[in-house]
Amino acid sequence: MSATTTAAAGMRFKLSDDQRDIRAMVREFAEAEIVPIAAEIDETHRFPEENVRKMAELGLLGMIVPEEYGGAGLDYVSYSVAIEELSRACASHGVIASVNNSLVCYPILTYATEEQKQKFLKPLAKGEFLGAYCLTEPNAGSNAANQETTAVLDGDHYVLNGTKLFVTNAGPSTHLVAYASNDRSKGTRGITAFIIEADRPGVKKGKKEMKMGIHGSDTREIAFVDCRVPVANRLGAEGAGYKVALDTLGGGRIGIAAQAVGIAQAALEAAHRYSQERIQFDKPISEFPAIQQMLADMAVEVDAARLLTYRASFLRDQGRPHAVESSMAKLYSSEAAVKCANWAVQIHGGYGYLTEYKVERLYRDAKICEIYEGTSEVQKMVIALNVLKQFEGGSK
Ligand SMILES: Cc1cc2nc3c(=O)[nH]c(=O)nc-3n(C[C@H](O)[C@H](O)[C@H](O)COP(=O)(O)OP(=O)(O)OC[C@H]3O[C@@H](n4cnc5c(N)ncnc54)[C@H](O)[C@@H]3O)c2cc1C
Repeated sequence: MSATTTAAAGMRFKLSDDQRDIRAMVREFAEAEIVPIAAEIDETHRFPEENVRKMAELGLLGMIVPEEYGGAGLDYVSYSVAIEELSRACASHGVIASVNNSLVCYPILTYATEEQKQKFLKPLAKGEFLGAYCLTEPNAGSNAANQETTAVLDGDHYVLNGTKLFVTNAGPSTHLVAYASNDRSKGTRGITAFIIEADRPGVKKGKKEMKMGIHGSDTREIAFVDCRVPVANRLGAEGAGYKVALDTLGGGRIGIAAQAVGIAQAALEAAHRYSQERIQFDKPISEFPAIQQMLADMAVEVDAARLLTYRASFLRDQGRPHAVESSMAKLYSSEAAVKCANWAVQIHGGYGYLTEYKVERLYRDAKICEIYEGTSEVQKMVIALNVLKQFEGGSK
């Protein structure tokens, strides 16, 4: 192979100028507007409405939506960079944006009719509406196929009945992407997706859940009680909803991977800073090998997590298969965030256990990444199935 071919085939481990500009823009916003309120919204469990408006103005709620539909028209690598930066400042802001982008705008962009895009996608991408995603149910968690919410056709409406759990953005949401079964006997082929106005009669929002972390993110149960939804609000074909849900989660997992990278990065930075300030035995603790090893492990975890997240984003940008790579990125990054937050608390010693220090919040916020949008065990199932398929007929 000639040198030219090798160079052409080489890999670029570098963001483009545009992607670096996005990072700088989001970091500036996050430092100026998010960092000052992050501890307060954590303490009071307050949804940061003012900042959600500002994120909308900056185009951060419709990043992957083309400009013609009110979005910023960015690629997925830029999207990951932006979610990482938001989450580095505050994981709640990261998930609020990630849900609207990945779980609400994406399926509407991909599966909606032109009329639905004009009516719902444009205002969602501009942040005039706020979206939530209703898949999980009491008996449909990891097994999302077991949808018990029903949608019965009645003239030009479907009548929905059932309960959705753990809905992020539920309280402030104006629109929901929700799943229900038209025919339970058909299993996953009986599931249909809908776009539902949250103020429609029969949509009942529950009380705000009190959580371990991401306190600024509003999580609630949403029940549908004889909720009449026009056929015109159906997202995709009848019975095609499960495919919509799985495809949507492929991108959603990239968003959560990026959120986890942001948390891990914040933990590394806080640990590094503290290790240089804290003096014990007449030296900064950063001079002790035990502390250096933790910092080294954190640096490797952050880099590996980020690279896996960028790879999954890049493949999605290329329109190439990326479900397994998204699962790998989500699994690895979530675990990296939990490990890094743990090390950061350890490096802070007793102070790390106090709410006054940010690492305590990072430790609580990191854990959710291993649970939502598919637990770590579910990601391993996806990855293992692929391994088994890859080596079908024996290892080569
Ligand atoms: C803060 C928060 C926000 C959320 N936001 C949303 C949202 O916006 N929209 C939405 O639809 N959902 C949301 N969820 C729901 C979330 O996606 C689910 O909680 C998650 O998918 C797990 O489902 P479950 O809680 O029912 O756990 P279960 O499925 O009951 O799992 C319990 C345990 O069993 C394990 N397990 C289950 N099946 C298997 C298996 N086959 N093999 C091995 N282990 C297995 C799991 O990994 C887990 O450890 C949110 C959850 C939380 C906590």
